[in-house]
Amino acid sequence: MNSSPISSLPKPLLRLSGGARGDRALVVLSGGQDSTTCLFWAKHHFKEVYAITFVYGQKHSIEVKLAEEICRDYDVNFRLMDVSFISQLNHNALTDSSIVMDQEKPAGALPNTFVPGRNLFFLSIAAVYAREIGAFDIVTGVSQTDFSGYPDCRDAFIRSLNVTLNMAMEEQFIIHTPLMWIDKAETWKLADDLGVLDVIRRRTLTCYNGIPGDGCGHCPACHLRRAGLEQYLATKS
Ligand code: ZN
Repeated sequence: MNSSPISSLPKPLLRLSGGARGDRALVVLSGGQDSTTCLFWAKHHFKEVYAITFVYGQKHSIEVKLAEEICRDYDVNFRLMDVSFISQLNHNALTDSSIVMDQEKPAGALPNTFVPGRNLFFLSIAAVYAREIGAFDIVTGVSQTDFSGYPDCRDAFIRSLNVTLNMAMEEQFIIHTPLMWIDKAETWKLADDLGVLDVIRRRTLTCYNGIPGDGCGHCPACHLRRAGLEQYLATKS
């Protein structure tokens, strides 16, 4: 654990019981900006960090490669898990290349980039693996302030699932969501505070067209990422 805490960073939730548990964390890592920022947040707060990355039929396997490389270079235990059955359950624009991605959130509906059950599966599987490796702190980069309005990124869902997982395995997991209440500009600030702004900027993939770093520049994910970065950098200068 880093001995110089940064006061402005989101703090881990406190473990009220459970003794010495809390030294080892498992991060659900996609290779994107948010989860990779969470990886470094976890490295700041926990002695030992593991990452689990899911293959679920996503179009861009480069995201997985980036996640693996970051873990290799920053001394994180990396585990790849194939859950591509998820893409057989539902048609969505992230896993089905015949569907054109919504460029904007449709009024009164979820964008077709929503993968139903994704975080339910990911976090449930992560918890089983976390228990196996003795990590009872699980970190995910979901954010309620995300523009898409995915229900499985909301705080109520995460808290509900946390209770369910604890009951399912009779354990005391804590699901940490450092990005839950911050926007993209603040996520860039967090990366900067953690000293990894350039790493996040160059070595993560957010772009829906599969281009790492600053991306294609015109898809919704690139717009959001760039707007946040520009907003943050403007506050610095
Ligand atoms: Zn893009």
